[in-house]
Amino acid sequence: MAHFPPHQSGSVGTVSLVGAGPGDPELLTLRAARLIERAEVLVHDGLVGPEIMAMAPAGARRISVAKSRARHTMKQDEINALLVREALAGRHVVRLKGGDPLIFGRGGEEAEACRAAGVPVEIVPGISAAQAAGSLAQIPLTHRDHASIVSFVAGQCKGLTEQDWSGLAGVGRTLVIYMGVATAAQISEKLMEDGLAPDAAVAVVERASLPGMRVLRGVLAGLPEIVAENDVRSPALIVIGEVTREGGDTALARIAMEARA
Ligand code: SAH
Repeated sequence: MAHFPPHQSGSVGTVSLVGAGPGDPELLTLRAARLIERAEVLVHDGLVGPEIMAMAPAGARRISVAKSRARHTMKQDEINALLVREALAGRHVVRLKGGDPLIFGRGGEEAEACRAAGVPVEIVPGISAAQAAGSLAQIPLTHRDHASIVSFVAGQCKGLTEQDWSGLAGVGRTLVIYMGVATAAQISEKLMEDGLAPDAAVAVVERASLPGMRVLRGVLAGLPEIVAENDVRSPALIVIGEVTREGGDTALARIAMEARA
């Protein structure tokens, strides 16, 4: 059941751009949970899993805009147009995105399209993958002794070839790479060309907060092998820096907590 009042003809609806966090429903904000539970129309990405989608009312319309090789994928312009169209028809649209909506999620473009069309847009922050991966792997992204600068970069083709990463990793710094699994070999190469030591510490955090989460540690030169030999798949983050030596055996900590819960 939707809790919004039935719309009057001519009245404009709203778009809530909502961060769904890294996957575990327990890591949603209360605001996100409340909006999902009341949604009339939900427009969601592939990163938003079935457990979170199941929180929406049975009668809510669910529209997937997940990227898929198998079928036609909606282009960003089409997604923007969909949000605006639904809201102009008077509906309250919840646009659910993995992590935080404004970190590598093109949420800024969606909000801009809404504002341009006169549609009121609310943005609800979510726990971004870097924050979740750090805490859940017990890798402090900042640490008084090891890092006082953190950078988030996009490791897919454009981010790799068009951006200058020099200086982002190294002493006193943590570098977190989103969307970098497929290009791990180029990333390792690029950072070593920039002068980072081949034995710089790295960690790969796969499926942070989701069943089967893995934390794999090693050194920069071995990054391509870590990914290939363990068959690491998206979603995963690459973290580079001294801080990745912290954390110990987080799997054991998790099991102990679950036994107590
Ligand atoms: N807006 C999202 C990021 C979208 S880009 C956020 O703030 O988290 C998609 C990338 O995010 C993935 O390729 C992966 O690198 C990372 N990612 C998302 N969820 C993740 C998870 N549960 N574990 C590890 N990485 C994740």
